[in-house]
Amino acid sequence: MALERLLKGFADFRMGYYREHLDLFEKLASEGQSPEILIVGCSDARVDPTILTQTKPGDIFTVRNVGAMVPPAQFPADERHHGTSAAIEFAVRGLHVKHIVVLGHALCGGIAALMDGSGGAYGHYDYLATWTSIAQEVRNLVVREFKGRPRAEIARALEQAAVVNSVRNLLTFRWVALEVAAGTLSLHAWWFNLVEGQLYAFNPETTAFEPVLGVKLGGAITQQAALSGIKPDQFVAALARRKPAF
Ligand SMILES: [Zn+2]
Repeated sequence: MALERLLKGFADFRMGYYREHLDLFEKLASEGQSPEILIVGCSDARVDPTILTQTKPGDIFTVRNVGAMVPPAQFPADERHHGTSAAIEFAVRGLHVKHIVVLGHALCGGIAALMDGSGGAYGHYDYLATWTSIAQEVRNLVVREFKGRPRAEIARALEQAAVVNSVRNLLTFRWVALEVAAGTLSLHAWWFNLVEGQLYAFNPETTAFEPVLGVKLGGAITQQAALSGIKPDQFVAALARRKPAF
């Protein structure tokens, strides 16, 4: 049943979207792709970056993984299989993207797994804990700072802190750091709340995630260069001091 739906969907795409955008597909085939944006998103089936941003083929280069995480650079590179790092490298060194957006989201299962650790429902899985341990230090910080608070509040704090942590990790790749320093690449920390359908961007000036709609295109979106100066522990401390949003 599920696969039949995919084939029906593809038939609809071929007769509809593909035909309507034939010029675009021909251009992309002959000239190649030249997206200006890389989105690091979560594998979660509910948060597709192209649907959220209503973008067309060729607009964004995407890598999705559990928890929308960026691992720190391995330098010198080792022989292991660094899928997310390879995608980031190609986007930056090959495609010369101008922006990298790390897009976390509400109700993230990967972040919940990180929060629960080895005692949680996924604690016995082969790869999950090792992968999400990218944000282990941040997790420990959040759990300490938010001790006694409701689980949903802790989860939200960790979801957002993990995004900030991933942006920090982006800067450990030397070619990312060089481009950011040169002003040719900017980094963005976003968090999507699928419960209310709102997108939030981290504003380094206020140390907070702010809704992007109804906000002038400034602050949260354009001040991202300053993001380099924000450390996850500062963000977590600031978040813990604030009144809970719910
Ligand atoms: Zn997720």
